[in-house]
Amino acid sequence: MSWTYDPTNIFARILRGEIPNKTVMETPHTLVFHDIHPQAPVHVLVIPKGAYVSLDHFSAEATEAEIVDFHRTVAKVCAILGLSGEEGFRAIANAGANGHQEVPHYHLHILGGRPLGRMLERV
Ligand code: 5GP
Repeated sequence: MSWTYDPTNIFARILRGEIPNKTVMETPHTLVFHDIHPQAPVHVLVIPKGAYVSLDHFSAEATEAEIVDFHRTVAKVCAILGLSGEEGFRAIANAGANGHQEVPHYHLHILGGRPLGRMLERV
């Protein structure tokens, strides 16, 4: 499988500093910022700084350092935002057309602060 990364996507522009963002935390490989249209009291996006289109692209081709850094950052941000206890949270990674991915740079949504309902609508 090969992935084609579009460097004009909005998160690439955020990473280049062309568009402002509300940063929660940043590491050498990972950036966490608030979603511009939050769907819960807490709604942040965790993104790798590397050029990866989707979760499967990141998981296949990112370095071990990038993958470890990304997931350690998820843990830190959950703690910072008070999501790590019993109340919990939801993590969502949309990919491609069926996943309804809007921005083609891998991002993990972290949502919490209210009951989030069923994982998927029943159709
Ligand atoms: P997707 O549907 O690709 O999984 O989610 C993309 C997310 O990016 C949406 O929740 C949307 O609100 C968010 N988003 C789109 N453009 C911007 C932006 O310019 N800044 C921020 N902070 N979030 C954005």
